[in-house]
Amino acid sequence: MSTTISNPTSQPSTPAIEKQTTVGNYFVSNYPPFSFWKGEYLGQFTEAIEKAPKSGNPLGIYLHIPFCRKRCHFCYFRVYTDKDSAAIRSYIDAALDELRIYAAKPCIGGRKPKFVYFGGGTPSYLSVDQLRLLTDGMKALLPWDEAEEVTFECEPGTLTDHKLKALREIGVTRLSLGVENFNDHILEVNGRAHLSKEIARAYAYAREVGFPQINIDLIAGMVEETESNWRENVRKTIEMSPDSVTIYQMEIPYNTTIYQQMKAEGKLVAPVADWETKRQWVAYAFSELEKCGYTVSSAYTAVKDKKKTQFIYRDRLWAGADLLSLGVASFGHVNGVHYQNHHDFDPYIAKLRQGELPAHRALTPTSDERLIREFVLQLKLGSVSISYFNEKFSTNLLSRFAVPLQTLENWGFLTVSGDVISINRDGLLQIDRLLHEFFLHEHKNARYA
Ligand code: SF4
Repeated sequence: MSTTISNPTSQPSTPAIEKQTTVGNYFVSNYPPFSFWKGEYLGQFTEAIEKAPKSGNPLGIYLHIPFCRKRCHFCYFRVYTDKDSAAIRSYIDAALDELRIYAAKPCIGGRKPKFVYFGGGTPSYLSVDQLRLLTDGMKALLPWDEAEEVTFECEPGTLTDHKLKALREIGVTRLSLGVENFNDHILEVNGRAHLSKEIARAYAYAREVGFPQINIDLIAGMVEETESNWRENVRKTIEMSPDSVTIYQMEIPYNTTIYQQMKAEGKLVAPVADWETKRQWVAYAFSELEKCGYTVSSAYTAVKDKKKTQFIYRDRLWAGADLLSLGVASFGHVNGVHYQNHHDFDPYIAKLRQGELPAHRALTPTSDERLIREFVLQLKLGSVSISYFNEKFSTNLLSRFAVPLQTLENWGFLTVSGDVISINRDGLLQIDRLLHEFFLHEHKNARYA
C-alpha cells in the first residue's frame, strides 16, 4: 500500500511533456552537473589524494581508451580516429604513469581494486600486444586479484578470436558489446564502423571463449530507425541470448556531428524518433525480454539471471565508491572529491611527462549533494531503501525530499511502501528527466558538460 509523503505542496498532476528530440544532454550520470566542476577547486582534489581513505569504502579503476575506427555521428565522447601506434604507445605509458602516481598516494590506503572498467572510445581498438603491455603494467602497480569484476567495452568489428582469448586471459569477466543496431544501413547512416556480420562473428567467438558475462548495448531511436527495425533488433537480441541487455535512448548532445548538421541547416529538431516513441520502443524491448525470462534491473538494463548477473561497477559507483579514473577526459571520485582529467590528448600526455597528475577540474560535493547524487543514481534501479539513506546520511529521507517525492507520486510514477521507494515502469522509462526534481535549484536543467 502506498504511503502518503509528509509536507506535500501543491504540484501539477502531470509532468511537462517534452516531445521531439532537441539538442542537449538527457542522461544523468553524476551530480552535481559537470558544468559546476571547476579548475579553481583543484586544490581540494590535491588535498584529498593525500588523505587515507574512509574505512571500508571500496576502490575501483576506470580507464578511458579514446581511440575509435570512426566517429559515430551521435558520439559525444572524447575520441580520436587518427592516432598511430606510436601515439597509442605514448598514451599507454601515460596511463601507467598516472596509475603509478596514484598507487603511491595515501588515498589508496593499501586497498586493491574491487572492480576495473575499460571504457571508451573503443578499448577493443588496442592490439593484443598493446593490451598486454597495458594490463600487465596496471596489475604490477595495483594488483587486480581482489577484483570482483573487470568490464571491457568492445566494438564488434575490432574483435578476433585471438583478441577475445587474450581478454579472457587478462581477466575480463564482463564483455560489453556495442551492437547498437543490427541493420547495416542504419549502422552506416549513423556513422558506426561495424557491420551486422561482425556482430554475429564476435558474439560467437566471445561465447566460445567463455566470458562469465556478455552484455549487448542497443540504442533506441538511431537516425532512420523505424518501428519494424526496432522490433527486429529486439528479436535478434533475444535470439543471441546475452546475459544482459543495456538500452539507451538516443540523445543529441551539443558536440555531436548530428547537432553540427542540425545547426548548419538551421534545424531545432533532431532527425531521430521523438521521446515518446523511444520510450515505447524501450517498453516493448523490456516486455519482450521479460517474456523470455529476463528481469528489468534498471532503467536501461535487463538481465537473464538476476541472481548471477551483477553489474558491480555501476552498483559500487552509485553507492559512493572511490573511482580512480585514468586517461584523457575521464571522471573520477576520491575521498569525497569529484575530478575530471584534461580533455585533450596532448595536455594529458604532457602533464604526465612532467610527473604530474592530469586532473583538470574538481568539485567537493556537500553532504546534501552527496545524498542527492546517491539517491538519484540509485532511483535508476527502480527502488531504494529509505533506511539505507537515513543511516548513511543521518537524515530523514522522506522529509528531505518531501516535495519532489510528492510530485512524482502525483504524476503517477512513484510509491512509498514501508522501507522502499519504488519507481514504476513508466517512470523508469523517463527517469533521467524526472531526476531533476530532486536537484538543488541551481542545478536544475544545468548542462551536463
Ligand atoms: S564507438 Fe562509441 S566512443 Fe567511438 S565514436 Fe562511436 S559512440 Fe563514440
